[in-house]
Amino acid sequence: MSKDEINGKEKGEGVSNSKMASKVDISERQRQTLIEVVDDIAGEEVKKVTLVLLNADEETTDEEISEKLDMRLNQVRKSLYKLYDLQLATFRRIRDKSTGWFVYFWTLHPERIDVFVEKKQLEVLEKLQTRLLYETSNMFFTCDNPDCPRVIFQEAMDNNFECETCKGRLEAFENEQLIKVLKEKIVELEAIREKTQKIMNGEK
Ligand SMILES: [Zn+2]
Repeated sequence: MSKDEINGKEKGEGVSNSKMASKVDISERQRQTLIEVVDDIAGEEVKKVTLVLLNADEETTDEEISEKLDMRLNQVRKSLYKLYDLQLATFRRIRDKSTGWFVYFWTLHPERIDVFVEKKQLEVLEKLQTRLLYETSNMFFTCDNPDCPRVIFQEAMDNNFECETCKGRLEAFENEQLIKVLKEKIVELEAIREKTQKIMNGEK
């Protein structure tokens, strides 16, 4: 008896153990973004697993993916949990009564890529804004040595303007250039965010 036959016959915990449809309509842009993002942050293997799920019309088990890709089951599972952590995939677990093992039915949620990208952009923007605030609200001091850390005014004063690392003299550090670059990056990212939102609202 094949596993599919078993899955088809046994009922598990009141939840359907026949496959459910998993196809979600997404735009070509969402599809491209999803593949790029997954490849970029999770790597080649997760991308391969994503493509299998993306092209499936119904839920897919880890074993099916493993067979299709000729990829080790452990590797497939790792990839799936990575997608789960990124909130781009979910699973439904059914106990196979004849074997006692759990069968995992996986579904990809490609439409969530918009929220994902939006969240990432916001995180980066907030980091830049925090850094800008830190740079504009402090005075910095450094010695001549490029390997020594930069310190803020209070710390320099506490150390009598002597570098703790090399004992060199601490001089004021001009961070105007850094502030300029940070401001430019923030403006740039805000423009990208605006554009992203327009695309999201315009397309499904
Ligand atoms: Zn130093």
